[in-house]
Amino acid sequence: MTKLTLDRILQSQGFGTRKYCRALIADGEVTIHGKNGGEIVDDWKAAFETDGLEFTVFDETWRYREHVYIVLNKPSNFECSRKPSHHPGVLTLLPEQFTWRELQPVGRLDHDTTGMLLMSDDGAFIHAQSSPRRHVPKVYVATTADPVSPELVAQLLEGVQLHDEPAPLAAVSCRMLGEHQLEMVLEQGKYHQVKRMLAAAGNHCAALTRVAIGGLTLASLELEEGEWTYLDEAQLALLK
Ligand code: URA
Repeated sequence: MTKLTLDRILQSQGFGTRKYCRALIADGEVTIHGKNGGEIVDDWKAAFETDGLEFTVFDETWRYREHVYIVLNKPSNFECSRKPSHHPGVLTLLPEQFTWRELQPVGRLDHDTTGMLLMSDDGAFIHAQSSPRRHVPKVYVATTADPVSPELVAQLLEGVQLHDEPAPLAAVSCRMLGEHQLEMVLEQGKYHQVKRMLAAAGNHCAALTRVAIGGLTLASLELEEGEWTYLDEAQLALLK
């Protein structure tokens, strides 16, 4: 088993290469429970094994996390890609450590879609969460160019045929929120699904925001656009 050393821990938490992490420790930039990380041999290991290690780098406190699970309230004009082409990537809204940790979006939102975006570095979680077999409901609020009508709602609930899909796609639920606003719940995560379904039903999506995933709502997280938070166990359990 690889020996647990402070430089390895810092590297695993996204603070840079092992060489850089060693330099941080040597320069006295890392403290653990108020003590210089370079001078402690055993104390920090005990803390790590019992509490989950809390450490400070450049005066900012971090907690050791084997994996990171966060939700970002995504603003418009950010791309979900790690290699964005036309707009900045969502990783630019997060601490640099998350780029080193190779955090990935769990499913994508279009660059102009706002709202709830899960991100993690746990491959098994990302896979399970995005699996079409899981049927995780996702709630969207769409602003439409043309007024919404009971007929439009009925059409979206019945199913609309998209060009490259073998069968019609239907919303799990759908309701009017206003003259130009619709709430749609989808279980699939097809490319541009809300926009294409609205277009197939004869309307046009002018703005789109994701407001819930499973039982976890964006409102409960109280995040301004561009803000993010770690998800705790209870919140993760709601994502089903
Ligand atoms: N459906 C869309 O059309 N776009 C999104 O970003 C998400 C769902």
